[in-house]
Amino acid sequence: MTYQPASDRYRNAMSYRRAGKSGIDLPAISLGLWQNFGGTDDLDMATAILRRAFDRGITHFDLANNYGPPPGSAESFFGEVLARDFSRHRDEMIISTKAGWQMWDGPYGGIGGSRKYLVASLDQSLHRMGLDYVDIFYSHRVDPTTPLEETMGALAHLHRQGKALYIGISSYSPELTRKAAALLREERVPLFIHQPNYSMFNRRIEHGLLDTLEDLGTACIAFSPLAQGLLSNKYLHGVPESARAGRGGFDKSLITDELVGRIRSLNTIAERRGQTTAQMAIAWALRDPRVTSALIGARTVEQLDNSLSALEKMEFETEELAEIELHAKD
Ligand code: NDP
Repeated sequence: MTYQPASDRYRNAMSYRRAGKSGIDLPAISLGLWQNFGGTDDLDMATAILRRAFDRGITHFDLANNYGPPPGSAESFFGEVLARDFSRHRDEMIISTKAGWQMWDGPYGGIGGSRKYLVASLDQSLHRMGLDYVDIFYSHRVDPTTPLEETMGALAHLHRQGKALYIGISSYSPELTRKAAALLREERVPLFIHQPNYSMFNRRIEHGLLDTLEDLGTACIAFSPLAQGLLSNKYLHGVPESARAGRGGFDKSLITDELVGRIRSLNTIAERRGQTTAQMAIAWALRDPRVTSALIGARTVEQLDNSLSALEKMEFETEELAEIELHAKD
């Protein structure tokens, strides 16, 4: 069926937050295609999720060269949906991709940050998605075997070529983030955004990275704010087969009784707030304005809808934050 985006998509409850010291806003909640959008997934559902996301004001879609499985299939699928459903709406979208993890055979497509790999990989990604440019291109990970000058030089080159409007890095330490920003500055390219892991169960960015990003004027988009689905009520009574841990997405043995106890306590706080645990986790990740966007995943339209309704209750009482702190530490 032909898709017509909802005409009220910018009049609904989505909020848009300024990305660092740039001139552009990102939606408070962005959608990532790491899981559930690959060649082995339910692509009717995946299409429905993308449509629903756009209808509810999500303008930012995050990909990477290797998302699938198989690697590349999420980008190919996204390219098909773009061409069919969103071709008239490209300028309403911020589309990102990355390179850094294993992608193709031989010495140049493996884990890394070489100029050869990044330049070739972005060309492949653009081809798969049927795009002339992406809005954001990331170095997906630190590659300690490649000089940072080479990785940042490659990103600046792609920026100058117009193949990436903005440049980002993912999972870099505060120290390397400063160095990366300085190298990019020499090339007159701003470090637009950093993509770190951040949730109630992973607090690392609170110890230096957020301050660094604020100093640099760099945006922060927090990935896995639901800790891959742990921050929900689905694991309170065992591991459902349909859930990510049940499908082998991560190690079930991480779900200890102690962890389930903490999730149960968080669930009680969320219920008192009139939210689901997932909604509370998203609102919590966005409580610091330096976090521009919460980058979520979704397996069903229902999950997406549930997560987006986090925006209906974003404020926290001081006592609530203190209580969450008791159960949320990593
Ligand atoms: P989340 O922490 O949001 O986890 C998403 C998963 O949680 C879903 O697939 C689903 O899993 C479950 N879920 C989602 N919504 C709900 C809900 N409302 N109620 C209950 N369960 C829910 O994020 P992801 O780990 O999926 O990561 C999001 C994005 O971040 C990725 O797509 C990618 O773009 C980016 N990312 C980047 C990385 C990097 O290195 N830069 C690394 C990892 C992610 P289930 O199937 O169990 O129901």
